[in-house]
Amino acid sequence: MNNLKNLRGTVDLLPNQLIKWQNVEKIVLEQLSRASIKEIRTPILEMTELFIRGIGEGTDVVSKEMYTFLDRGERSCTLRPEGTASVVRALIQNGMSSNPLQKLWYMGPMFRYERPQAGRQRQFHQLGVEFVGYESVRSDVEIIALAWDILGKLGIKELNLEINTLGDQDDRLKFQKSFLGWLEKNKNSLDLDSQNRINKNPLRILDSKNIQTKKILANAPRLFNFLSEKSQKRYSELKNQLDSLKIPYLENHNLVRGLDYYNHTAFEITSGALGSQATVCGGGRYDDLIKQMGGANTPAIGFAIGLERLILLAGKELEVPRNTDIYIINQGLIAETLAIDLSRKLRNYDLLVELDSSGSSFSKQFKKANKLKSKSIIVIGDDEAAKKEFIIRLFDKSSDGNKEEVISFENNTKLENWLNNNLLLK
Ligand code: ATP
Ligand code: MG
Repeated sequence: MNNLKNLRGTVDLLPNQLIKWQNVEKIVLEQLSRASIKEIRTPILEMTELFIRGIGEGTDVVSKEMYTFLDRGERSCTLRPEGTASVVRALIQNGMSSNPLQKLWYMGPMFRYERPQAGRQRQFHQLGVEFVGYESVRSDVEIIALAWDILGKLGIKELNLEINTLGDQDDRLKFQKSFLGWLEKNKNSLDLDSQNRINKNPLRILDSKNIQTKKILANAPRLFNFLSEKSQKRYSELKNQLDSLKIPYLENHNLVRGLDYYNHTAFEITSGALGSQATVCGGGRYDDLIKQMGGANTPAIGFAIGLERLILLAGKELEVPRNTDIYIINQGLIAETLAIDLSRKLRNYDLLVELDSSGSSFSKQFKKANKLKSKSIIVIGDDEAAKKEFIIRLFDKSSDGNKEEVISFENNTKLENWLNNNLLLK
């Protein structure tokens, strides 16, 4: 039999790698909770139609990258390739799409059938934030600042924020007219994918990753030059507010992020430390999407951060596991039961308590405690068990000797005092 293997583009995250993941997630979740953003969890599996309508048929994601299959009831299902469409569906379905002002986040696996490489997988993870019902420039700035601060809290350096504006529907119609004229003239120089999009969804061509097409597009009319005065003013206001928050940005008028439902503000955060897959965060305003999907006419703005890329960027200090506070060394039948009981009690103090369940000799257990650099140890042998007491010893580098105490199992006050003086209040 062949050895069983994981699918290409998926990875196992092993315990030593997950230390960093958990530390990163903890910092991220703290930031979100401090900003009073509420979590939403939607199914990983959805009807295929949701993504066709929510992301758009002409997009790479929908046309090439989705994991789509028929279930046993012949329904077309898709493993979610992103989070926004599901969040919008859930809001509409639960009668929440017209609720005033909702700040939401989600986190979890996404699936895209892409060519795997560093920072690009077929199953990857995203953290997404959506501000629903928010229309003003202030909310654009707030959400950009939130993404910026999450990355900052993780100590990530070399970050670049790129911004652009896509105007509103009217601006885009005006632009599209002129762009279509240009496309007809330059059709033969474009790659085949782009040629096919001329009739289906011409604005998507701006998203093309084809190098030749990109070169030619440099001479195409620019959406930026078709913005109404109102849209221009909005964009200036965005820049002013970012300036006053001292958040540095670069303007990139080629940043379109799929024009189907995005409007006004679009942004990306990239890092020079990432190599070719440099974008760690992408976001933008999507005022028309919720209505388009059958909900209320509700403006919204959001972003998504790729967690794999975030992990690559976050510092080594986050790879360090939490230190053991107490290592419980025990031997003998009665001692073992007492040790389990004590470990449960001690964990109520939010201490990392490791119970040695190996049954090996005292000296081996001591060695293990040393290797782990446990801050303290507890010893329970037959003698201690008979007297219903245990020895607790602190390895204190700052004082001369190691502080040791004998404590009776019944004497909670003495135990608590010892913990407070030596571990908890340090
Ligand atoms: P890219 O240009 O890298 O393909 P995208 O525009 O397709 O990105 P979005 O759909 O905006 O990406 O997703 C937001 C973020 O999710 C990206 O900036 C990236 O960090 C991450 N991401 C997207 N696709 C993948 C993937 N296949 N593997 C790992 N991370 C990904
Ligand atoms: Mg992509």
